[in-house]
Amino acid sequence: MISKRADEICALAGKVAVITGSTNGIGFAIAQRLAQDGAHVVVSSRKQQNVDRAVAALQGEGLRVTGTVCHVGKAEDRERLVATALDHCGGVDILVSVAGFLGNVGSTLGTSEEVWDKILNVNVKAPALLLNQLLPHMEKRRGSSVVLVSSLVVYAPLHQIGAYNVSKTAILGLTKTLSKELAPKNIRVNCLMPGIIDTPFSQVLLQDPEFLDNYLAFNKIQRIGKPEDCSGVVSFLCSPDASYINGESIVVAGCSPRL
Ligand code: NAP
Repeated sequence: MISKRADEICALAGKVAVITGSTNGIGFAIAQRLAQDGAHVVVSSRKQQNVDRAVAALQGEGLRVTGTVCHVGKAEDRERLVATALDHCGGVDILVSVAGFLGNVGSTLGTSEEVWDKILNVNVKAPALLLNQLLPHMEKRRGSSVVLVSSLVVYAPLHQIGAYNVSKTAILGLTKTLSKELAPKNIRVNCLMPGIIDTPFSQVLLQDPEFLDNYLAFNKIQRIGKPEDCSGVVSFLCSPDASYINGESIVVAGCSPRL
């Protein structure tokens, strides 16, 4: 006889997960893990060729995956993402908002208005606008879950990327606010805060040997994170095991910046 625990191994069986920025790096690892844990996953990013490559790779592993182009800053792309999930999967239980924009490397006050707008649009406004479009569909499900991707820079701001630090701090605010607002609708909202993870996104920092030395001195585990370090935590936050966790933020950085 199969034990109850063994039965529950596919913690996300029957769930549909929409993931932005999921054709590479952290988002791709999350898509892979959520699909391995039983979800039907909708991957997305700006470039069709990246979507095709990610879908082919995950389907090649026998996972249930659909994909579409979605630049999160474009309203028509967000609409297409929602429509794709509804058409192919019949509903949405999970949103993981991964897509982010680093902006120029430079001082906070030296950031141009154009770059401020792009950083805040992509990193803060877009997840809220996308979630608003998904809300009527997520409300219909029996317990939905949202994970927003912030960053360790909320607690340990990097002087090289001031405007980005501010946007990632706003995502923590968005998590806290939405977790209260959506709890009565049976939708939980939590936050992932990665440290430095080895992806194309972080190369601008990792290529600076002084930055790398300082980071490893700060992070006593003495290694840079991998995208897979983030994916199990997100799967847990979306699973029934986390059904009493709401408005929480989890740092995945090999160290804790909090007391
Ligand atoms: P990555 O490896 O460069 O991957 C970025 C992914 O997002 C790609 O699939 C990219 O594909 C897509 N993308 C980029 N801009 C997009 C947009 N406007 N709309 C939709 N998709 C978009 O980056 P990553 O390191 O995984 O970073 C993902 C998230 O983690 C970001 O929010 C970042 O702030 C956060 N984060 C990263 C680190 C780190 O050290 N890597 C640390 C803390 C937080 P296309 O090019 O096809 O769009």
